[in-house]
Amino acid sequence: MSKLPNSGASIFTVMSQMAAKHNAINLSQGFPNFPVDERLTAIVARLAHENVHQYAPMAGYLPLLEKIAKLIQDSYQRELAAATEVLVTTGATQGIFTTITALIQTNDEVVIVDPSYDCYETPILLAGAKPIRVPLDDDYATNWERIEEAFNSKTKMLIINNPHNPTGKILKPTDFEALERLLTKYPKVLLLSDEVYEYITFEENHISAHTRHFLHDRTIVVSSFGKSFHITGWKIGYLVAPEHLMNEIKKVHQFLVFSVNSICQVSIAEYLDVVAIADIKKMYQEKRDYFRSLLQNSRFKLMPCEGTYFQVASYAAISQESDVDFCKRLITDFGVAAIPISTFYANGKDLKLIRFCFAKDNATLEAAAARLCAL
Ligand code: GLN
Repeated sequence: MSKLPNSGASIFTVMSQMAAKHNAINLSQGFPNFPVDERLTAIVARLAHENVHQYAPMAGYLPLLEKIAKLIQDSYQRELAAATEVLVTTGATQGIFTTITALIQTNDEVVIVDPSYDCYETPILLAGAKPIRVPLDDDYATNWERIEEAFNSKTKMLIINNPHNPTGKILKPTDFEALERLLTKYPKVLLLSDEVYEYITFEENHISAHTRHFLHDRTIVVSSFGKSFHITGWKIGYLVAPEHLMNEIKKVHQFLVFSVNSICQVSIAEYLDVVAIADIKKMYQEKRDYFRSLLQNSRFKLMPCEGTYFQVASYAAISQESDVDFCKRLITDFGVAAIPISTFYANGKDLKLIRFCFAKDNATLEAAAARLCAL
């Protein structure tokens, strides 16, 4: 009997494979197609000849843990004990899986929003717990009243994703006020804050859970170097948790991966000394604006995009097909791959919306837009 009877290949795998098969421009799965910073590749090339090929310490290469703590101090003015409150993970995916496995027990309830990225539900189910999906409002704002209605004595964790994949929505100061009011009423509920797109926000600044002192004692913040440094294939990220939770998280981490690949850790530790992480915001804002301008005269209606490298668009003026069918036809007939938004909903809600990834070089965006404008 399957432990995960409803789980199949992820939509990102399905769409990327289909794009490859039909030689379509792939704006579906989120990954950049432009070159990685040469300063980073030069560090890797040099380190390949040095003694960096054996196991790293379980929680991470200490200089990297210290530089992550400094990055968080510089970005959010939060002071951390690098050795006890930071963990290097095999991407945010493993950070999330490890956290849920370590902290969630059978019959616990974990509240997640709908639509949601796909990696939260499986570890919740494997822990014997129950995912409770709470819909965002129509404008993708978080509805705190509905979230509160979903809370009860079984609620063990709330997962937020800020900036949000796929909608590009970011949480506002009023969201954090509501969140803190709610968690005051539920002192045992933990917060898992997935902030992998933390450095990709546009008009408004990202508000990290790191900046909220009230939350520190029960919050796990998950980040990804894959997103921040255009290296999704390296599968390297980190999480921050207070020591009492981190001790439990490490008990799982040490038997899930033991430690994360050493040459990547040493490389990123060096790279953090030279990179200006704030620059990625400007680069992606230009990409977002350029991609939106290219689609201005198309029949797609573009939704607001406050952060992430995803643009959601309505195709209701073009077709009434389901979003899954529309995405398939977009690949086969028009040579562009996108992600149907219904796949982020528990009940497959079809709003005639699709998601494009604009983390692409301008030539790719131009070629894709030319095809999309023909629809
Ligand atoms: N996070 C990526 C996206 O939303 C997908 C990563 C993956 O395929 N696991 O497109």
